[in-house]
Amino acid sequence: MTAEKMEFKTEVTQLMDLMIHSLYSHKEIFLRELISNASDALDKARYESLTRKEIQEAAGQWKIRLAVDKTAGTLTVSDNGIGMTKDEIITALGTIAHSGTKEFLKSLQAGQKKDSPDLIGQFGVGFYSSFMVADRVTVITRKAGSADQAGVRWESAADGTFTVDDVEKKEAGTEVILHLKDDEKKYLDEWELRNIVRKYSDYIEHPVVMEVERKKPDAFDKDKTISVKEDETLNSQKAIWLKDKSEIGENEYAEFYKHISHDFSEPAKVLHYKAEGTSEFNALLFIPSKLPMGIFYKDYKIGPTLYVKRVQIMDHCEELIPPYLRFVSGVVDSSDLPLNVSREILQSNRQIDIIKKNITKKVLETLSDMKKNEPDKYLTFHKEFGRVLKEGIHFDYSRREQIADLLLFPSTKTGPDLTTTFQDYVAAMKEGQDEIYYITGPSIGEVMQSPYLEAFREKDYEVLIMLDDIDDVIMSGLNEYKGKKIKSVVKGDIKFDEKGGDDQAKKTEEYSGLIASIKDQLKGEIKDVRISGRLKDSPCCLVIDEGAMDANMEKLMKAMGQDVPPSLRILEINPGHPLFDMMKSLVGDDSRKDLLKEYIDMIYSQALLLEGSRPKDPAAFARSVARLMTERLGKK
Ligand code: ADP
Repeated sequence: MTAEKMEFKTEVTQLMDLMIHSLYSHKEIFLRELISNASDALDKARYESLTRKEIQEAAGQWKIRLAVDKTAGTLTVSDNGIGMTKDEIITALGTIAHSGTKEFLKSLQAGQKKDSPDLIGQFGVGFYSSFMVADRVTVITRKAGSADQAGVRWESAADGTFTVDDVEKKEAGTEVILHLKDDEKKYLDEWELRNIVRKYSDYIEHPVVMEVERKKPDAFDKDKTISVKEDETLNSQKAIWLKDKSEIGENEYAEFYKHISHDFSEPAKVLHYKAEGTSEFNALLFIPSKLPMGIFYKDYKIGPTLYVKRVQIMDHCEELIPPYLRFVSGVVDSSDLPLNVSREILQSNRQIDIIKKNITKKVLETLSDMKKNEPDKYLTFHKEFGRVLKEGIHFDYSRREQIADLLLFPSTKTGPDLTTTFQDYVAAMKEGQDEIYYITGPSIGEVMQSPYLEAFREKDYEVLIMLDDIDDVIMSGLNEYKGKKIKSVVKGDIKFDEKGGDDQAKKTEEYSGLIASIKDQLKGEIKDVRISGRLKDSPCCLVIDEGAMDANMEKLMKAMGQDVPPSLRILEINPGHPLFDMMKSLVGDDSRKDLLKEYIDMIYSQALLLEGSRPKDPAAFARSVARLMTERLGKK
């Protein structure tokens, strides 16, 4: 049968182009990627072999082999692992599974990301990196456990197409043959390969072997040497998480992190510890320094790799970590779980629960230490992960205050570049202030102009500024901090003291006629009209009933396709503004009925604009404004 020719999905071609043309500095990592794939394939085969007799390691050992052919100019990386069927290889090496990667490539096409080489390592692009050093790559593979010797041969010259063909293959596993480019022949050199393996793949648990030629003294003639070929293992194979901390260099942690996370950047924090007592396990966990691509996608895989006594059980064990810490990656190696543990068992396993609790506690403590002792580093972390972390307030109610303690916010007093915390906010509260205030909005600049802040500014009360779309839900959920109520400045009534309340009551009486007219005209649009306790300069604003959703949140829910019942706003008017005395004088004057009506519509439109919504009838609003502008210039 002749080889079948197929085309890569566009995104693969794009990705390969990117790898070939922009990743000059790190070419040698192709070997780490191939060894890492081989190691994963061995883990899978070993795991399958526990329950399926037909899967056994060939030649008595799971291993990865490097072989060079100087004449042909090829480097081969092979393993006796799980292998691939024809269908599997067409999918695995012809498409990109992760939606995060696809989105990334799209944005790249639109020219939005300049630092692409840095980001590219964040996805599963491992295999394609071979094309940085090879102009042609051949993969010969056979699925473990298949009865006959039916293998598949895949080949591509990075020209947008690949071929697949049936071939015979004796052993199960995969061989990746790189036909090295002319100027990349250094990868045929034994010492070069040895160094790269040491540097990037030393901790790989399976042996990486290579046949080497050594001169040895001839046993029969001491003056002579003979050449012997023997297998040598290039890596020390120690599972890094089982090593003693003192034996591990910083660089080793970083390399291991890059191996498991596909991230090129250094981790922000490494947590390496052994837990003893009710549950015995070793954990090596990483907090990354950059937000992993795709972390907000549904198919984002979360959780550390789970090992049981050094045998890998699954690569993303989501039962080990709460979703709001999903940026944490690493390894957990348990001594208590059975080897044949399944997903179903994991979901209701006491040991797993204990481990999860323990990890959660450790990570939160680490973040808290980092916040205290390395504030600059923490600020960077928070910029990347604050949005994820705060989900915990909603989902992990018992730890809500602990998580709240980890959040940073700008405020009306910090300026745009600094941040404060709940602790500092509470410590700086003014005498007589007993609530924590916040405002949500799209940007600090916009929020700072908000009329909702006027009374707070006058009182010199600090207001926290929250810019994430989920903040309103999170804060409603948190509700209070250290016994102090947390309150949105756009919600409910604002009364700072008794006197304020009395004034409000008096003014309500005084303006009752106008209030009644407004209510009547805007019936069905608004819930109520009242005298504002929060406005000082602006004429009016819309506020939300205590407990209802704010405008940001409503927009967000609608964007997510949720049906949001309209929550009617309360229109607050500021009698301190001269406009209302004038409007008051129009009430009951039949000859100026239309003018009053137009003014009421206009103040309502203004209030809608301030809230971030559209006026009900933008055209009418624009007409009214234009008319007033003309009148002001003296032309009727
Ligand atoms: P990743 O390893 O991040 O998934 P790669 O592009 O390196 O991305 O590999 C794509 C897929 O190809 C792997 O997920 C795996 O299914 C398959 N694969 C690659 N190398 C091997 C191998 N040596 N043995 C078996 N399967 C492999």
